[in-house]
Amino acid sequence: MEITGSCYCGEIKYQAKSQNNNALVCHCSDCQRMSSGPFRAVIIAEPNSVVFTQGEPKEFVKTAQSGNKRAQGFCGTCGTTLYATNEAKADRVYGLRIGAVDQRDQFTPTAQIWTKSTLSWLSGLHEVPAFDTTPQN
Ligand SMILES: [Zn+2]
Ligand SMILES: [Zn+2]
Repeated sequence: MEITGSCYCGEIKYQAKSQNNNALVCHCSDCQRMSSGPFRAVIIAEPNSVVFTQGEPKEFVKTAQSGNKRAQGFCGTCGTTLYATNEAKADRVYGLRIGAVDQRDQFTPTAQIWTKSTLSWLSGLHEVPAFDTTPQN
């Protein structure tokens, strides 16, 4: 399917193609740190399908413990994280951060990886009191 995405401030916009079952959740400590969230969820785009239609993301090249290098794309103005991909500029396969994808609710992850570092409270999250919006004090 065709998907579109953008950062929070709207400076960066992109379009891409993905299978609609091609999402996964990563619980590794690098993803926790880099997203400042409890985990990171990504949609794997089809090779060479990502086109930036507006703006140019900044990239930070992260070196994993394995020595594997991955370019991490983000908006230089608002800081929204957008993707990770191979360091080389050719034949890139993008893992698009699901929160920046407009169609994010049409994807259901099919796998969770690096679960040995999953935050312990996540498995009980459905039991935590839930509100439609911020509750009034
Ligand atoms: Zn932005
Ligand atoms: Zn990860």
